[in-house]
Parts: sequence; structure tokens; C-alpha cells
Amino acid sequence: MYKRILVTGGAGFLGSHLCERLLDAGHDVLCVDNFFTGSRRNISKLFDYRGFELLRHDVTFPLYVEVDQIYNLACPASPIHYQFDPVQTTKTSVLGAINMLGLAKRLKVRFLQASTSEVYGDPVVHPQIEEYWGNVNPIGFRSCYDEGKRCAETLVFDYVRQHKIDAKVVRIFNTYGPRMHPADGRVVSNFIMQALTGKDITLYGDGAQTRSFCYVDDLISAMIKMMATSPGVTGPVNIGNPSEFTIRELAELIVDLTGSTSRLIYEPLPSDDPRQRQPDIRKAKEMLGWEPKVALRQGLETTIAYFDDLLRRNELPNGV
Ligand code: NAD
Ligand code: UDP
Ligand code: UDP
Repeated sequence: MYKRILVTGGAGFLGSHLCERLLDAGHDVLCVDNFFTGSRRNISKLFDYRGFELLRHDVTFPLYVEVDQIYNLACPASPIHYQFDPVQTTKTSVLGAINMLGLAKRLKVRFLQASTSEVYGDPVVHPQIEEYWGNVNPIGFRSCYDEGKRCAETLVFDYVRQHKIDAKVVRIFNTYGPRMHPADGRVVSNFIMQALTGKDITLYGDGAQTRSFCYVDDLISAMIKMMATSPGVTGPVNIGNPSEFTIRELAELIVDLTGSTSRLIYEPLPSDDPRQRQPDIRKAKEMLGWEPKVALRQGLETTIAYFDDLLRRNELPNGV
């Protein structure tokens, strides 16, 4: 059924793919973004859809609009971006969630919160199951993001219990794909940009730490399926790709796929950097009938092609 759907953070990496998928399904989309890390380039082709609307707005301030559904994605997601102004990061997660939940409460509409695997911190339970409460440093450099997102989850569950709203939480694990910011410092974008420009590939620590990388198209399918679950299903549900790789394996694969001559070099590991991360996605499989389809090699090929095109057109955003 046709809906008018609000996507906060809609000009970002995941948000722009979500907006596009919802528009393709025939919905109207209101994209709300303050363009902190998002860009017009990410959403430029969405203006071709009659049902697309853009509002420049910071979710830490109240928002009065009329919509049928809310996806709350607004928040910088890469460490260099969320540590640039950590107080604003916490405000975005916490005040942003309060305002968007207040909006959902007034309109009596369904709400989905984009949470993160970072709520597990540096996990001692592996792979991570939703019941695990996490191992998070409350006062470190990553805390503005991790604790902000944990508080946003708390708010969702309290709005559900106290105000009887219909809301859902997905915990997103490392996701990659076209429209990642080329200077966001994340490992996939860093390694691809370094490989394509012949720079040294920077492995932090010994490169033996692990991550599990999900291709963006798979991730968006899971978010939409979660939004379609029955009222009363709140989650949280892990979404991600359980295929786990060491950072060194990722570097070698990217060198191979790009045919790059870049060397692998080793740099210090940032503080609180989790040693390992892999989602347990049994809940997503059971509840959503979903599992990722795109293998790392295949997803990286598409992502490399995107960055290659950016470089050829010389369309790099500020900060690169
Ligand atoms: P992104 O930085 O590309 O997108 C975030 C968007 O939110 C940007 O367009 C930014 O301009 C906007 N934004 C930031 N602060 C805002 C504010 N105060 N008001 C309005 N807009 C604001 O990041 P992404 O990778 O697309 O992440 C989207 C969401 O998914 C985030 O909530 C993030 O925490 C979550 N997530 C992403 C990943 C991942 O691997 N990409 C993993 C876990 C969770
Ligand atoms: N809010 C909003 N849009 C709305 C309704 C509420 O931005 O359509 C904001 C409002 O500013 C408030 C927050 O959401 O600060 C929480 O709303 P709620 O109704 O839960 O709290 P209250 O207004 O009672 O403090
Ligand atoms: N990393 C790396 N080199 C880089 C960027 C990141 O070795 O140029 C490592 C980083 O230390 C971490 C992993 O890659 O162990 C994933 O980092 P990212 O910032 O992408 O995501 P997160 O740590 O939030 O999972």
C-alpha cells in the first residue's frame, strides 16, 4: 500500500539507498538531512521521482511533518565523522531519537531505529547474539556513538512500553557499497581509494582483527522487511553478513580486485578498536526470512567501480 515515508539521514550512504528503494516501490519519500556527512550527489537522481522531497533539517530540533512511517538513520557513522564533534553525535542520537519518537507518537505511525553493532562494544561473546548486553567503554573516544546509540535503543523500548508506539530496532553491522563517503576513514573506502590511487594500504594494528561486511543492497532489504513485521515486534534484530574476514584478508582481496601495486603498511591500532565482530543472524533469518545474498568479492567489484568512476570524473566531495 502506498505510503508517505520519512527517512532521516536520507542523503547519507544507507539513507540514499533506502530512499531509492522506497521510491521504486511506489512510495513518496521525505528525506530529512542536515548534510553533515550526506551529500546532494547521493540523492541527485532521486529528484527525478515525483514523490521525492528534501528537507534540510537537524533532527536534534523538533520536526512537525505529516508522514505514515519513519526510518530514523540520521547520525554520522564512521569514527572520524562521529568523533569530529562528539557532543553533537550524542545529541543527534539521543535528541534525534526523542524528537522522531515524539513525532511517531503524535502521528501514531510505525518507527524504525537504525542501531549498530557498536552497542556490543568490544564483544566478549562471539558471534554477537541480540541477548548479549555488550562491552562498551562509557568514556572513550567511541562512546559518543556507542552510548548514544544504546540510549536511542533505550528510548525506543520506553516509548513502546510507556506510550504504546509501534517501533522497531535493527542493529546494523559493517556495511559497504557505492555512495560510501570516500574520506570517511572506514576500512573499505580507505583501502579501495588507496588501492586505486597507488597509495600505501594502511592496516591498523597487525591486521588480524576481524569484521563481517554486508553489501548495502542486502542491508536495505532487511530494513524494509523489519519495518513490515507485525505490531509488537520490536527486536532488536541483528542485520549483517556473517562471513567474517581479517582486515589483512580484506586488504589482499582489494589489491587483487583492483590490480593495484600498493604496498600493505602497518599503523597503530586506534583505541577501543574491537578485535572481532560477526553477527549472529538467526533471528533475522527466522523473523524476516532474510539472509544476505551478495558475496564480498562481488560487492567489492561494484564498490570499486563506483570509486573508480568518482576518481575519473574528479567528483570527490570535500575532505578528500
Ligand atoms: P552516513 O554518515 O553516510 O549517513 C548519515 C546521514 O545522517 C548523513 O546524510 C548526515 O548528513 C545525516 N545527519 C547526521 N547528523 C544529522 C542531524 N543531526 N540531523 C539530520 N541529519 C543528520 O552514514 P550511514 O553509513 O549511511 O549510516 C546511516 C545510519 O546507519 C546511521 O544511523 C548509522 O549509525 C547506522 N549504521 C551504519 C553502519 C554502516 O556500516 N554503514 C553500521 C551500523 C549502523
Ligand atoms: N516532537 C516533534 N514532532 C512532533 C511531536 C513531538 O519533533 O510531531 C518532539 C517534541 O519537541 C518533543 C519530543 O518530540 O520534545 C518528544 O515528544 P513527546 O510527545 O514524547 O514528549 P513531550 O512533548 O511530552 O515532552
Ligand atoms: N582499519 C584499518 N585501516 C584503515 C581503516 C580501518 O586497518 O585504513 C581497521 C580498523 O582499525 C578496524 C577495522 O579496520 O579494526 C574496521 O574499521 P572501520 O572504521 O571501517 O569500522 P569499525 O571499526 O567501526 O567496525
